Amino acid sequence: MTVELITKAQSKNNNSRGQVALVGAGPGDPELLTLKALKAIENADLILFDNLVSQDIRALFPPHTKAIYVGKKKADHCIPQDQLNLFMVDKAKQGLNICRLKGGDPFVFGRGSEEQLVLHAHDIKTIVVPGVTAASGCTAYAGIPLTHRGLSTGCTFITGHLKNGQLDLNWSQLAHLEHTLVFYMGLGKLAEISAQLLSHGLDSNTPAALIENGSTPQQREFVGTVATLPTLAIEHQLQSPSLIVIGQVVSLAEQLSWRDLEQAAKNQELSA
Ligand code: SAH
Repeated sequence: MTVELITKAQSKNNNSRGQVALVGAGPGDPELLTLKALKAIENADLILFDNLVSQDIRALFPPHTKAIYVGKKKADHCIPQDQLNLFMVDKAKQGLNICRLKGGDPFVFGRGSEEQLVLHAHDIKTIVVPGVTAASGCTAYAGIPLTHRGLSTGCTFITGHLKNGQLDLNWSQLAHLEHTLVFYMGLGKLAEISAQLLSHGLDSNTPAALIENGSTPQQREFVGTVATLPTLAIEHQLQSPSLIVIGQVVSLAEQLSWRDLEQAAKNQELSA
């Protein structure tokens, strides 16, 4: 059944209320949108989108559909979360089908589940469309596998932005996991992340990378070690959104890089 069919059937069953699709837009490249995400965008009466939804994806919004930017840059919370939740409830009660579009995956540091709890409390039906999360999208585009036999037995996603502003993490556990560590929202706390991991026993030569604007034409990636990351970030003036990847898998980045080849093929197509 297409998203359109689900949407129409479900809204009829619920006194003509609209439903909310919590949709992941992936890390930026529009070709990483799922077919289901694209259908949810095309079938919505109203699109509410975050800062991390790339310009190329915004360009896919149907011109006749109302789309509202609801912010979420650190210093730019356009609409406070509580108000946004109530706005969605209100619009769904009016019968609008809403596409709540978020960068990456709505359930990975995306507040999708928080919004869903509020919507369900108001008896609004939801569907969830997963997206490619930054950890897998950005690393893949930088030639870094999240796991690799013999180098990493797992992968841990960590937020570098905590509610009270404190990075109160279990550092000794993180330093000894022998996993790939992926920090989201960590750029502002990079010096602390590096220092804490080192002081809790992570080898200072552990390979590490910073990936800015992953999967977009503006992607930049820098490879160093857990000890050199803070200097790299300053030297190259990294900006948000940036992802921090720490672990032996980063040592494969040079061998596995593929984007230059893709770009060369595209250029060749253009000049043919
Ligand atoms: N729900 C999103 C994450 C939201 S938290 C997801 O699943 O990807 C926002 C953080 O994600 C950013 O601060 C950054 O650390 C990371 N991020 C998202 N998109 C990114 C991109 N294109 N390049 C680098 N980092 C990205």
